[in-house]
Amino acid sequence: MAGFIKALLDWRKLENQTLYAIILAIILGVILPELAQYLKVVGDIFLRLLKAIAIPLVITSIFVSIVSLGSLRELKSLGLKAIAYYTATTFLAVLTGLIVVNLFFGNGFSSGEVSHSQTFQAREISLQDFLVGFFPSNIFQSLAEGKIVQIIVFTVLLALGVLAIKETLKGKETVTNLFEGLNEAFLNTAGWIIKLTPLGVFAIVYYTIATHGLGAFSSLWKYALAVVLGLLWHATVNLGLIAYLLAKVKPHEYFAKVREALLIAFSTASSSATLPVSLRVAQEKGGVDKKVAGFILPLGATVNMDGTALYEAVAVMFIASMYGIDMDLTKQVIILVTATLAAIGAAGIPSAGLVTMTLVLTAVGLPLEGIAIILAIDRFLDMLRTSVNVWGDLIGAKLVDNLQRGRL
Ligand code: ASP
Repeated sequence: MAGFIKALLDWRKLENQTLYAIILAIILGVILPELAQYLKVVGDIFLRLLKAIAIPLVITSIFVSIVSLGSLRELKSLGLKAIAYYTATTFLAVLTGLIVVNLFFGNGFSSGEVSHSQTFQAREISLQDFLVGFFPSNIFQSLAEGKIVQIIVFTVLLALGVLAIKETLKGKETVTNLFEGLNEAFLNTAGWIIKLTPLGVFAIVYYTIATHGLGAFSSLWKYALAVVLGLLWHATVNLGLIAYLLAKVKPHEYFAKVREALLIAFSTASSSATLPVSLRVAQEKGGVDKKVAGFILPLGATVNMDGTALYEAVAVMFIASMYGIDMDLTKQVIILVTATLAAIGAAGIPSAGLVTMTLVLTAVGLPLEGIAIILAIDRFLDMLRTSVNVWGDLIGAKLVDNLQRGRL
């Protein structure tokens, strides 16, 4: 433990500088908000660079890991483990959210008056659109629109196609070498962008605090508290136990190793933008095999969102109580299932969870406009839930890595 604290205090480390940058940005954002506008450009450039590298990294990492697995059987084994982990932990996260609400706030919050401070144009998502949306019809359109799930599906098909090319044909090696080379190159580029993290993160957090203010917490504090408590419990106890018992790592030590990714997740509120960093820290500091990290992390950044799932469950319970609607056990079971699905469907970008929450609200018959109630503090909760999303991905990568090495 002493080593862990010492590691957190070493100011020469990039991840610690990032942490200090966040703390400083929060303080300055509150006392000197007018300066934030000058920093916006710095944060924007940093974020754009991260996003620019994210999709090329997703494609090349997934491609390289599938081809290096060598067979459909290996892919199936890795894929099934990943899906089992994602579903189980997401489900557990929603359950935790519901338990926190029921335990600490009774069935609902009943805190009464919260004003609809902002308007929100919610669009209902049907289950059919949701499922069809996983499949690309034009890969260039998917690329241009940043539809990551579609890009992943296409990349998996492409990699399987390449695996099926006969060994005797030159094409197989050529394409594989090309993707491997590109993957290395993108990882190098990501490394350079990561060096800018303290500065980029300082600018983003400063601007966020200055523009969103902390005032909104006063009327929504009970709701925010429930989300925070749930997230804390899930990140430390649920995921901590999984890390310790199944991934065979001490959670605090693993946390110290990969914390750079968690800090970026907190600052950017985007799992996808964090991906370049997660890939690097998982391999270089967390000791996760490249094949496993390259497959589990890009997939996890898109489908595995424990924090989002938990938050959606708490938010829906809160909205229901604001409308004075009772959520009985049946409705809570519906929340359990739909919030899991909604989190899987959420993209790894800021506010994505807010949008897919409409799926849950519709399922339990609540008005979509209810989302307007929680809008004011959503950015802050987004920062926290995204960190938990990424933490879940990183533990998943370590766990599957262990399983693949037969260490369980
Ligand atoms: N911002 C989250 C993420 O990127 C998704 C969400 O909950 O809005 O992981």
